[in-house]
Amino acid sequence: MKTADIVVVGGGIIGISLAYGLARQGASVTVLDNAKGMYSASRGNFGLVWVQGKGLGMPRYAEWTLEAAEKWHNFSQELTEKTGNVIDYEQPGGFEVCLGEKEWSLRKSELEQLRDEFPGGNYDNQMLDRKQMQEYIPEMPLGENVTGASYSPHDGHLNPLKLLTALITALEETGAALDTDQQVESVAYRKKCFEIKNAKDSYYAKKVVLACGLGIKELAQQVGLNIPIRPQRGQILVTERTKPLLKYPFVTIRQTHEGSFMLGASHEEVGFDTETTLDQMRNIASHAVQTFPELSRLQLVRCWGALRILTPDAKPLYVESETCPGAFVVTSHSGITLTPLHVNLLPKWILEGDAPGGFEQFHLKRFDA
Ligand SMILES: Cc1cc2nc3c(=O)[nH]c(=O)nc-3n(C[C@H](O)[C@H](O)[C@H](O)COP(=O)(O)OP(=O)(O)OC[C@H]3O[C@@H](n4cnc5c(N)ncnc54)[C@H](O)[C@@H]3O)c2cc1C
Repeated sequence: MKTADIVVVGGGIIGISLAYGLARQGASVTVLDNAKGMYSASRGNFGLVWVQGKGLGMPRYAEWTLEAAEKWHNFSQELTEKTGNVIDYEQPGGFEVCLGEKEWSLRKSELEQLRDEFPGGNYDNQMLDRKQMQEYIPEMPLGENVTGASYSPHDGHLNPLKLLTALITALEETGAALDTDQQVESVAYRKKCFEIKNAKDSYYAKKVVLACGLGIKELAQQVGLNIPIRPQRGQILVTERTKPLLKYPFVTIRQTHEGSFMLGASHEEVGFDTETTLDQMRNIASHAVQTFPELSRLQLVRCWGALRILTPDAKPLYVESETCPGAFVVTSHSGITLTPLHVNLLPKWILEGDAPGGFEQFHLKRFDA
């Protein structure tokens, strides 16, 4: 009989982060992941640790994101010391470009709303005009359509594949079990214990955490939770490598440590379709070249489509089942950004019910209305 204190279903960035945090607290943990699954946001994302613009209408999420960003520096250092894996994390601050006055005014009013809503009002994003923006990046001439940008000193970026590898290494060092060829088919709750089944085996655990991205919906129903998530496709382009040019990440453009530019990302409601399309690739490339005309001299070498896991308000969802206590659902867009909190704070909630202040705002109940 295979047993664990906690079974985590899903071995993407969120499942591995939670499992690592839980194992560090002394729980015996098994992670079951179907690595051959078609959908892995953790392997297809843009790699931003991003604060600006997040949390409109839910100040707790704005705070939560900022808290995560503040923890990233120490977290990445600890992870590298522990595993020897460098994840290319940098926090130089980040930009979101505005092409035209309309975009600039809209962004400005969004930031004003965020600032008004933010507890204490000390939300330090700022709007920069074109000249101020160019002063940050003199080596990259701006396109003529650039009006300016919003800027946050808290934003940064990293290599998300290296992050996932480092977390898996850290998890394995705790002695937790990670099985990456396991499509979980059912979760049943009997006598205060969960039976988690795949095609071959049954696992028994006191608690189960469903962190399997787009696979959550089906399994959550079996523990009494109706989870309103949907896929949304984002396409990303990658250029050939070039010399270091752009120190700051933009929400749609960043230069990696290796020298490639990553350009992204579309927002497409196309169901479970991960194909790439010429029209979206053209839009993404055109937006990048309008921002920095110099990018037009670089060849594109790769592109892909990946699916975001979105709740109706695109904010995180953390919930325990009332009918099957001990069954948890954890899902979030921004799973990269929130990693330090998923590793360090959520395990206390799962193990002891000790949730951070204001945590109830991330509950499913917000969608009841
Ligand atoms: C285009 C794009 C750009 C993004 N950019 C950013 C960004 O810049 N910054 C940021 O913070 N976030 C970004 N995100 C969001 C981020 O990638 C996600 O929040 C995060 O990866 C979600 O991780 P996850 O572990 O929940 O899901 P996934 O990575 O999807 O992992 C879920 C895992 O569960 C497995 N699984 C599913 N069903 C089952 C089952 N029944 N049994 C066993 N295993 C199962 C899957 O195979 C998969 O391995 C982006 C996402 C996309 C798509």
